[in-house]
Amino acid sequence: KYAVTGATGHLGRLAVEALLERGVAPADVVALGRDTAKLDDLADRGVQVRRADYDDRASLDAALAGVDRVLLVSGTEFGRRVEQHTAVIEAARAAGVALLVYTSSPNADTASYTIAQEHRGTEQALAASGLPHVVLRNGWYLENYTAQLPVYLEHGIVGAAGDGRIAAAARPELAEAATVVLIGEGYAGQVLDLGGPAFTLTELAAEVSAASGRDVTYTDLPEAQLVEVLLGAGVPEPMAKALGDSDADAARGALYLEPTDLEKVLGRPATTMPEAVRAAL
Ligand code: NDP
Repeated sequence: KYAVTGATGHLGRLAVEALLERGVAPADVVALGRDTAKLDDLADRGVQVRRADYDDRASLDAALAGVDRVLLVSGTEFGRRVEQHTAVIEAARAAGVALLVYTSSPNADTASYTIAQEHRGTEQALAASGLPHVVLRNGWYLENYTAQLPVYLEHGIVGAAGDGRIAAAARPELAEAATVVLIGEGYAGQVLDLGGPAFTLTELAAEVSAASGRDVTYTDLPEAQLVEVLLGAGVPEPMAKALGDSDADAARGALYLEPTDLEKVLGRPATTMPEAVRAAL
């Protein structure tokens, strides 16, 4: 059986769908979430739905009973995630899980941006656990950018990434890649850099301009000023700071990944930024 945590979120849901599309029997797919009501439609399709809250170890033990392989989708609660992910890792080990696949972030072992630190902590917990595992260093989602297209068209693009190249990838392709690894053989012990063809924010602005026929420019700001802009747009402070420092670290290459691993796992080239921009417009 294959369990997917965070199945109530975007990536987890896409991974469950990808498992079914690849022919895994619904009864062998275990969709996990805190609020199982969000998974009712999957239960109706024969998928096993179980409650799993990273803060509730007993729920994790029950959720992973009889499970062979787990996709641990990283959580969303900044500052609490190493402890939460470690609880899942411990429960997986106790349940005799044979493989755990974890969604990490770009260059999590070396980069200084805040978000990387919890991923690094989780990667260390995995290494210490002795559990066979695969680390997926997922690139930023292309959807982070395409979701902002209306804002870009109205106000232009602001960031602090300078000429740093960002290896963003389409979220459905990251979900597909996670699924290929989860059901595949020979991945245990690997760290995969799952990034798409990289681009700078200047190139993003040029592409948005070309595709929309409007004049969209990129303005590079000092990190502190970018954080102010994000706070002004209503982004909560911890998130605004984390986005500001990841952008600043992107200027130093922290969000760059070679595109080879993603292409290899997918068996085809990954979606490019221009394709994503044109599809979203
Ligand atoms: P979503 O926010 O759509 O999904 C996050 C999932 O994590 C949800 O299912 C959520 O459950 C679950 N979760 C959070 N806390 C807990 C908890 N305590 N116990 C159980 N489940 C929990 O994010 P995505 O699916 O888009 O992305 C997956 C992960 O990737 C994110 O959680 C984040 O770690 C990371 N991420 C990556 C980005 C990137 O650009 N690469 C951008 C943003 C996030 P619930 O529905 O109950 O809230």
